[in-house]
Amino acid sequence: MIHCLPVPTPFAVGRVNVYLVEDDPLTLVDAGPNSGTSLTSLERSLAELGRKVEDLERIVVTHQHMDHIGLVQILADRAGAEVVALEAFAPWLAGYSEAMEADDAFASAVMARNGIPADVRMALRSVSVAYRALGGAATVTRTVRDGDTLGFADRSWTVHHRPGHSPSDTVFHDAQRGELIAGDHLIKQISSNPLVSRPLGGTESSARPQALVIYLESLAKTQAMELERVLPGHGQEIHDHRDLIDERLRLHDRRARKLLGLIAEQPRTAYQLAQAMWGNVAVTQAYLTLSEVLGHVDLLRNDGRVVEVEDDGVVRFAVS
Ligand SMILES: [Zn+2]
Repeated sequence: MIHCLPVPTPFAVGRVNVYLVEDDPLTLVDAGPNSGTSLTSLERSLAELGRKVEDLERIVVTHQHMDHIGLVQILADRAGAEVVALEAFAPWLAGYSEAMEADDAFASAVMARNGIPADVRMALRSVSVAYRALGGAATVTRTVRDGDTLGFADRSWTVHHRPGHSPSDTVFHDAQRGELIAGDHLIKQISSNPLVSRPLGGTESSARPQALVIYLESLAKTQAMELERVLPGHGQEIHDHRDLIDERLRLHDRRARKLLGLIAEQPRTAYQLAQAMWGNVAVTQAYLTLSEVLGHVDLLRNDGRVVEVEDDGVVRFAVS
């Protein structure tokens, strides 16, 4: 039996789904942000099921975002539970503060290159620093790799690395039950933003990964799976993953076509494109919208329809 325990977060996305897997070992998937409110809520949900934090034996982490990792080490310490995560992600999690600092430096460089003004970059950076304590470092005591099996008394999960929403996205597949623990790889109510992120192990000056292209490859792999239900990191359970993924593919296709139209009018930076698409939201949510634009521009560049023109360290996109 898997129970969904929604835990409050201060983020726009709302509550995060933490899952309690009633099996041997007793397992929690993700842990909610590092806040007293979240911990109290999680403790209450566990109590309703006749459990407590100290009963947990294993904590599985789906990806690096702070609404999923914040309480991992606190819970693991209290319970003496093992912490399971992708091998390539373990160093990031162990060095959380430095990793976030490097991620922000990377993001800042991407923003500068794509025409986002210095004042907007600085504002975003201070917001990020203000939120940072909602995450936290954790020591992974058991690393897994793509294709590994994670065993329980009554089930077994195959581990799949499905990056795109973040570089560390990991999903866990119970083939016998047709269940997929998906983290934020697939969410019903909202399209999982393929945020442009520093690659795991990369530096501030690493090349920008094509996050949307990577995400679409990951989605195609999930679409090919036989699944009864998908247990996502936010919102409701998904029973029609193939239709939902088709819907996402159509959305991305529409956006790419709209962007091509804007680029055909005149060459623009990604920031100017984001403003043309979303107006002031491109300022208040500069990194999110920039990531959206860059993702679609990557698709158009890979198709040979758009080229990048660099001038003085700032990139404009033009039709080829
Ligand atoms: Zn996430």
